[in-house]
This record gives sequence, C-alpha cells and structure tokens, in this order.
Amino acid sequence: MLYSSDFICSTPSLIEYLKESGFDTKTAHIGDLIEHPFSLLIPKYYADLIDWRDPDDPLRKMILPDKLEHEVKNYELADPIGDAVCSPTPGVVHRYPDRCLLMLTNVCAVHCRFCFRKNILDTNGAHLDKALAYIRAHIEIWEVIFSGGDPFMFTDHFMESIVSKLRRIPHVKMIRFHTRTPVVYPQKITPNLLASLQNAGPCSVVLHVNHPREITPAFIAVVSKMRTAGALILSQTVLLKGVNDHEKILGELFKKLVESGVKPYYLHHLDLTKGTHHFRISVARGKEIIQKLRGTISGLCMPEYVIDTPGGYGKIPVFWFSQIAKHT
Ligand code: SF4
Repeated sequence: MLYSSDFICSTPSLIEYLKESGFDTKTAHIGDLIEHPFSLLIPKYYADLIDWRDPDDPLRKMILPDKLEHEVKNYELADPIGDAVCSPTPGVVHRYPDRCLLMLTNVCAVHCRFCFRKNILDTNGAHLDKALAYIRAHIEIWEVIFSGGDPFMFTDHFMESIVSKLRRIPHVKMIRFHTRTPVVYPQKITPNLLASLQNAGPCSVVLHVNHPREITPAFIAVVSKMRTAGALILSQTVLLKGVNDHEKILGELFKKLVESGVKPYYLHHLDLTKGTHHFRISVARGKEIIQKLRGTISGLCMPEYVIDTPGGYGKIPVFWFSQIAKHT
C-alpha cells in the first residue's frame, strides 16, 4: 500500500518535514534548493537516514536537487545508454539477444538526481499488450528484466497479473526486477508482493544500493523476506563523486551487502546523463579505487565495474579499456 503522507514531494513539504524533525532551512542548509523539471521526491523513511546538519551528507546529495543539474555539458545525453535505438516497441528494450527490459512504469519511490533515465521518466508510453506480444514472438528471450521506473512500485494486483502473464510464456525462464524501493521505501515490500516473487518461479532482484548507510535493519529484514520467497538477490551500485568514490566506503558497502545476503553484481561508472557532471569521476580514478579494493576484500564482495556505452551498444567491463576516454 502506498501512502502519500510517506513522501516529501515539494519544497514546502520538505520544509514541513524538517520542521517536524527539529530543523529549519538554515540548520538543514537548504537555502539554495532549486526547482528542476525532475521533481523532488523523497520517502520520509529515507529522509530520516540523512544527517540534515551536514550539507555534504552523501545520502542528501543523491536526492536533493542541485543548481549544477542545470549545467549540461556538451558530451552529456538525454538518452545516455541508447534505450531508444534498442526499443522495438514502447516499453521494451531489446539490447542483448537472450534478454530484454520491460519498462511498464515511470514511477519510482525516490528521484535520484543522477538517474540515467531522468530525462525519459516522464515519457514512458509502454503499451502492455504490444510489449507482451513482442516477448511472445521472440523465442530467444530467456530473461525478462523489469526496469523503469521501479517495478516494485507496481500495485500488488498489477504485479501479480504481469508475473502470471510472463509465466505463461514458455521460453521466458527467468524474471528479474531492478529496484531501489527496498532501499528507500522498504515498507512497500508487502506480503502480496513477496507472494508474487514466490509465484514468479526462478527470479532475481537487483537492488540499487549506493552507500553503507542505506543498509539498515529494515532493509536487511526485507532482503531476508525476499530470499525466503525464493529470489536470488544481487545489487548494483553507481559510482558517485562525493557519495561513494572511496575504497573504504565501497568496501564497507560491499561487505555489508554480502553479510545481508546480497551479492554485489555491478558497479556502474556514471552514465553521460545530462546535468550530472558534478557526480562524475574519471574512469582512471574509478579503476584506482577498484584496484585498491581488490585484495583487501573477499572476491565474493567484488562487483564487476562496468560502463554502459552510449548508442545502445551495452555494458563493457571497464578493465577492458586500455585507452581512457577524455570525458568519462
Ligand atoms: S530509482 Fe532508479 S529509475 Fe528511479 S530515479 Fe532512482 S535511479 Fe532513476
């Protein structure tokens, strides 16, 4: 169940939340807050994890609009990983032969300021019947990956219905959910949603987690329930300047994930999304961080460091590059 009172979705509602938490705009350092077409959206659960006295709090950086978002570099793109060129029908991205993305919602539990789909989240025009017809007709599709938006923001009824429709397609053997909801709004993981995971048969959940402070008792409890429901739990992390661009922070994050029953899967170099340069570090610095991590933490805790190439060419492990592009 979704409750609008669980969310902060405007500057006035943020000010009200802060007031209730004992802060004002000065003590919470929000004087420079800007309006942006990609609106403010923060679950109160996540806002409670932020140290509002610290203007450089890493969790705060991920969710509060910054004036730097209006500075668009000439190499930044509206569709940085080329979803559009790989989309045969609205709502489907078929980039790799044996799997496709199914994007049926533009709703998220939070608006991450660095989101690679932030310029297209308002324009999702998925047509469910056409998307399912495409998947049925393409017998090479072994895995369907729900992305978005955030599939865990589906209503329980819609989740149950779409999972059972996919289960009736014989060649779809695996269902995957890409979600940040258990991290930012764990109360959305209801018994009905868990039942849908159980009914999905072989399935995986890839959690978007960026900082060790996101690993809370509520998150750990939800991971445990999803594992009990039979889902394989993996994580993906975005490498973000001022948030997690240090081996100590990433090492702590990856270890805590494994301790919680989550296998770190991907560490993403930040895509070339418009207005995100203030979050971007160089590939050289990213490689340096990974090299420092290797050998200091168990291989079990190490994700693959990847970069999504513009133009829809897909993910490439960063260590495959011998040349470092100037702007990435
Ligand atoms: S939850 Fe994912 S899709 Fe939604 S805003 Fe954050 S990064 Fe983007």
